[in-house]
Amino acid sequence: MALFRKSAAATPLDGIDCLYIDLDGVVYQGAAAIPHAVDSIRATGLPTAYLTNNASRTDADVAEHLSSFGLEVRPDQVVTSPQAAMRLLAPHLEPGDPVLVVGGAGIVVEIESRGWRVVRAAADRPKAVVQGFHPEVGWKDLAEAAFALQRKPEDGGIPWIATNGDWTIPVAGGIAPGNGTLVSAVHTAVGRLAEFAGKPETPMFELATDRFGAKAPAMIGDRLDTDILGARRTGIRSILVLTGIDRGASLIGADASMRPDHVIEDLRGLTAPILPLRETLETSTGDVYFEVGTAAVRRSGIDISLVRAGERPVDTIRAACAAVWSADRPVLGLRVAPELLAL
Ligand SMILES: [Mg+2]
Repeated sequence: MALFRKSAAATPLDGIDCLYIDLDGVVYQGAAAIPHAVDSIRATGLPTAYLTNNASRTDADVAEHLSSFGLEVRPDQVVTSPQAAMRLLAPHLEPGDPVLVVGGAGIVVEIESRGWRVVRAAADRPKAVVQGFHPEVGWKDLAEAAFALQRKPEDGGIPWIATNGDWTIPVAGGIAPGNGTLVSAVHTAVGRLAEFAGKPETPMFELATDRFGAKAPAMIGDRLDTDILGARRTGIRSILVLTGIDRGASLIGADASMRPDHVIEDLRGLTAPILPLRETLETSTGDVYFEVGTAAVRRSGIDISLVRAGERPVDTIRAACAAVWSADRPVLGLRVAPELLAL
């Protein structure tokens, strides 16, 4: 029997007590589960919250959908953007107050469970407007919201909470206008701004933290501008997984506000040791080499070039990110080799 076990290298989840997981592009893509996602989530053994900006479905609907992929998910493990919107709404309302809803069941069940009343017309004198995506939302709904929001807050106008600001939403037929686009239509009519609840704003993360009592959660997502930016704003660990929207090029060029703590190829990376990054300065030329595993990227002045591809694209991406992110100028001031941006 070995007396000493060599301590394992750190993984992205070291010290983490709870997972916050995005759905689309992380757990599933359309009707299919993403390879290794379900097994890898289970293998962590950690309490898991699922955070979704999509306001059209209830927490129970989402839990059922996730369970169909083989995960065991209770409705209270699902944190929806309508629930986060309720957090913003609560200080403004008394029991029984009417709320004008633009959206579907995902919002309606949350309003009703708090003892407020759903109305659909400005003539019902709502005390607030909540707006979230639903495929049945039409011009009449947007017009009623606009009528209810004619007055600005400083002139006694009512609060306007949007579940999320995603410009687009992926649906079976392709990419369609999302809630941000519909909110923008109302904004154009009323000349005032909504308050947003979902990712990348912090209420959704705060809600998850309250519900799970998490001290050290990690957000795992596929989008820099929602999942990672939101985690960074909340001050929690962020992990980008390359199975969805954002890949090498967007990560290499990412604004400092949305750079994740870790990047993994798929969710197996959650519990795999992190390959160390090595940085070497060649004193004669001033070139700097960034290596991850067998991947090597060189920064020579403003040129970022591929020296050697890694066994896995994610290693090369990490080396390229290190080369770009540690440069003394923004990415637009650098010449990044096209093969790095094609990863
Ligand atoms: Mg996603």
